[in-house]
Amino acid sequence: MTEKVNGITLRAVNYKDSDKILTVFTLEKGKITVSARGVRKANAKMKQISEPFCFAESVLAEKSGRFTVTEINSYDAFYPIRCDLSKYYAGMTALEITDAFLPDEMVSEGQFVLLVEFLKKLAYKSFNPINLLLKFFYDVALENGYSINLSACGRCGEEIKDRVFLSLKDGCCVCETCKKQGESGFSIDTYKYLREIASENLDGEDKEIAKNGLRFFGYYFNKVASVNLKSLTTLIELI
Ligand SMILES: [Zn+2]
Repeated sequence: MTEKVNGITLRAVNYKDSDKILTVFTLEKGKITVSARGVRKANAKMKQISEPFCFAESVLAEKSGRFTVTEINSYDAFYPIRCDLSKYYAGMTALEITDAFLPDEMVSEGQFVLLVEFLKKLAYKSFNPINLLLKFFYDVALENGYSINLSACGRCGEEIKDRVFLSLKDGCCVCETCKKQGESGFSIDTYKYLREIASENLDGEDKEIAKNGLRFFGYYFNKVASVNLKSLTTLIELI
């Protein structure tokens, strides 16, 4: 039996002499494991599918619940992402978090659209890659049940001005008056930067604050979802 799927390659590991085992996030079947035979040979026709970021339509053959790719029609390899280190590690972080959040074979059209749109902007638009990744983090948290309210104090609804605290339990930031025991404070500048990002303003240019924004989300995802993003650590060291 064969079927066509639209997918993005998240991960690839070498297998046997010339094969790869791929983790592909598909629109139709969610995240699946696919073997790609012979793709490490010099002139392999389906080489492209074995590279992370590849967005393609694939024909899959299924045998006892295992998929093998037999044909591909590549839509986009998002090539410019590979030509810039910040873009590359921002992109790899997005693939990694998608992989970490989605259980196997759980269909998520919302996450699929978020990832494709993120990769398109990262590859072809002139946005700051760090700001794009921060926006992606915010949207992905919302899409996957870890939403974090950055618009105002999550308890009293007032604007947060001087000091800000994070409630991991409630997924919100709170003001000094509403803070409960054990909720720790973080930089008000980082908070304000992220609040702008969340409201679609991606123009911020302060590198150190943006970096702290990445650390903030890294910490948040680690605490609420036990996700530890390796590419994010590299990205933070790099910028
Ligand atoms: Zn409050």
